[in-house]
Amino acid sequence: MSGFFSEKYKALVPYTPGEQPRDMKYIKLNTNESPFPPSEKAVRAASTAAKKLMLYSDPECTALKEALAARYGIDRDEVLPTNGSDEILNFAFMAFCDDKHPAAFADITYGFYKVFAKLNGIPYTEIPLKDDFTIDTGDYIGINKTVFIANPNAPTAIALNREQIEEIIRSNPENVVVVDEAYVDFGGESCVPLIHKYDNLLVTQTFSKSRSMAGARLGYGIGCRSLINDLNTIKYSTNPYNVNSMTMAAGIGMLEDEEYTASNCRAIQTNRDYISAELRGLGFILTDSKTNFVFAKHPKISGKELYLALRQRGILVRHFETERIAEYNRITIGTFEEMRILRDALADIIGGREEL
Ligand code: PMP
Repeated sequence: MSGFFSEKYKALVPYTPGEQPRDMKYIKLNTNESPFPPSEKAVRAASTAAKKLMLYSDPECTALKEALAARYGIDRDEVLPTNGSDEILNFAFMAFCDDKHPAAFADITYGFYKVFAKLNGIPYTEIPLKDDFTIDTGDYIGINKTVFIANPNAPTAIALNREQIEEIIRSNPENVVVVDEAYVDFGGESCVPLIHKYDNLLVTQTFSKSRSMAGARLGYGIGCRSLINDLNTIKYSTNPYNVNSMTMAAGIGMLEDEEYTASNCRAIQTNRDYISAELRGLGFILTDSKTNFVFAKHPKISGKELYLALRQRGILVRHFETERIAEYNRITIGTFEEMRILRDALADIIGGREEL
């Protein structure tokens, strides 16, 4: 730390992204990316846009907003594209939280919520998940705080249904409820249809998972006009050109090829069913995944040991040191071939344990 670092941030513990090692070629199942490339339409659109890179991107993201509005049956003033959904989440902390509206989120959820709260000096409460890692919706009814819920949740992979989330939104009319739907396309139920019913609902989504564009950094928030207006005030006070023109073009290209996205999601679900059954056969305990990853532990080997044994075999998964989930690993669903290799590696590791 330099002697110049602001007092405000000295105690900040930044978010740790999943590792991106370069020492050898790994099967990367640690950051919930898609194993499939973006649609050719997206690639072509981005490459055409590259020719105009001497110009600033459209700060209003007009064409992208129109494409998103058409996709979700909403108005273009009800959506705000951002630099990944991380950015819209940070904007939401900035716009909708303060001492009178502290943040509330689960103890086991997306690690960035706590970082954003601390970064912005916002008081927050972490609400413990139940022992089985499900959310007790009763904990959030009338909580009177700005609620952040990842649905489906990460890294637990478990989803609430729309009625359960709606109860939380309805019971907190004085606060915004942010529903982070980064993984919704893999089997969750979206709350987007509720945005016209509740002026305190913000839904965030991303192109990083189901739409194969993690490297392009594109996310968005959907909510009523007044919420989007507030978020725009934050955007225009930080970075008006937050979405670059190649990313914008690629995003529109992806939206023109929704059947490609849908078929990739179906493939992920098929591969998830396959690996879940195989893991259970090997004695693993899994949560009920509605995402592009599984969350698993095995009674014969610790989470850390399993992570290291897989790493040695060239397979990267995500292990968290957090006490409650230290026995688990979060494993991204890849191609069928990757899942077969994973299965064989796990059978080998677990088989070795059983001989001891
Ligand atoms: N929400 C959740 C629950 C996530 O797991 C992630 C991915 N790290 C994000 C939001 C942010 O993703 P991105 O910024 O790539 O849209």
